[in-house]
Amino acid sequence: MKIYNTLTRQVEEFKPKEEKFVKMYTCGPTVYHYAHIGNLRTYIFEDIFEKTLTYLGYSVTRCMNITDVGHMSSDSDSGEDKMLKGAKREHKTVLEIAQFYTECFKKDLEKLNVKWPEIVSKATDNIDEYIKIIEKLLQDGYAYSSGGNIYFDTSKLEDYYRLTNHKIDEMVVGVRAGVEEDTAKKNQADFVLWFTKSKFEDQELKWDSPWGYGYPGWHIECSGISIKYLGEYLDIHCGGVDNIFPHHTNEIAQSEAYLGHKWCNYWVHGEHLNDLSGKMSKSKGDFLTVSLLEEKGYSPLAYRFMCLNSHYRKVLVFSYEALSQASTTYEKLKKRTLSLKEEGNILEEDFLKYDTLFKEKIGDDLNTAEAFTVLYDVLKDETLNDKTKRELVKSFDTVFSLELLKEEKKEIDEELQRYIQKKMEERRIAKENKDYQLADAIRKELEEKNVLIKDTREGTTFEIK
Ligand code: AMP
Ligand code: ZN
Repeated sequence: MKIYNTLTRQVEEFKPKEEKFVKMYTCGPTVYHYAHIGNLRTYIFEDIFEKTLTYLGYSVTRCMNITDVGHMSSDSDSGEDKMLKGAKREHKTVLEIAQFYTECFKKDLEKLNVKWPEIVSKATDNIDEYIKIIEKLLQDGYAYSSGGNIYFDTSKLEDYYRLTNHKIDEMVVGVRAGVEEDTAKKNQADFVLWFTKSKFEDQELKWDSPWGYGYPGWHIECSGISIKYLGEYLDIHCGGVDNIFPHHTNEIAQSEAYLGHKWCNYWVHGEHLNDLSGKMSKSKGDFLTVSLLEEKGYSPLAYRFMCLNSHYRKVLVFSYEALSQASTTYEKLKKRTLSLKEEGNILEEDFLKYDTLFKEKIGDDLNTAEAFTVLYDVLKDETLNDKTKRELVKSFDTVFSLELLKEEKKEIDEELQRYIQKKMEERRIAKENKDYQLADAIRKELEEKNVLIKDTREGTTFEIK
């Protein structure tokens, strides 16, 4: 498989450290509010990436954190703690907020058919691990204590900005404009590993540490969780492009200083979803969520389809027009795939030909749009029987996860349900009395209302057409 590596700024052949086993880490949500559909675009891209690797024969172990402490409202350790902000907003405790929004996030992923990673760990469950790492960084001279906090000393590294390819001055001025300067730092780019001098008297979650009562910085949690669960070497690390700096830059700095060797080979980032006014953000008030799309009548999978039709490295602009269009195309496609019958035998050669083509496209830096073209070619190919087409659709859908062969369950109202039950009982009695004419008439009457009666060994059931 080929994938674009932010670290080398080119599309590369993917080679995991162990031949067929892939260790993948993806940054998880900060659970202080609902995820917006921009955040979810990133999780959809990571899901496609994981499923593609699996499709190509790799065994993937994926780990994700849940940020429930330490993430400030600015990514550069300043501002307010996001979790505390959420708790204040809703007059709840930080733990209540974390629990509630983690559940919401889980439900959103389920609706979008995003697989829950094999290992998911909360930042607050791994405090010992961060303390262990920070102690070693202090011992080895990569960290220092100042003004009550423990900082990482970025001047100790030769190439701190390796991932960003930016000049020091650009990064510092660009990102930190308008943010008050922390005078305890030795260098502008240094970042907090452990806060003991909290700006907030009412900071709820604090732990004992060798440096006093406090709490971890945001970046250390991903290094700690990844090293604890996936070991010293990581094949792939993902996130949205906003994570490149400072979050992933800092993760590399502290992990490699701690481990004493290169940590992760492939850094893969998904571009943002913007709205027509620009960047999507939770602080903007009425932001776009999966539930909001549902309220407006859109299926979450239509949104997934929309994301898959653009490349993960391109900015995608959200509008209801674009979603409506995607939704119509998705419904049409599904109607077509659902009409495929279980007829004929699988034509092995054709199956292999199209499957190879699909693997080539999806394995080419996750070219989902081209992978759809293969799917459409399959549907158009008149030399293929329905069974072969069906099997190919089923196979491709293990990556797309668009439920292309899943029949919609039709909701029926209570009144219709009662009517059907009554008619079925009448039919049962007619059959018992050997009045087959009446039994048939009832069957026909129901059929006219699109209700199909099925007599099985276990009894009589019905289905709505
Ligand atoms: P957060 O919950 O803020 O920590 O973000 C969760 C994930 O969403 C991170 O991987 C971010 O990089 C990503 N993200 C944030 N904003 C957007 C956006 N507008 N479009 C796509 N991904 C985003
Ligand atoms: Zn992270």
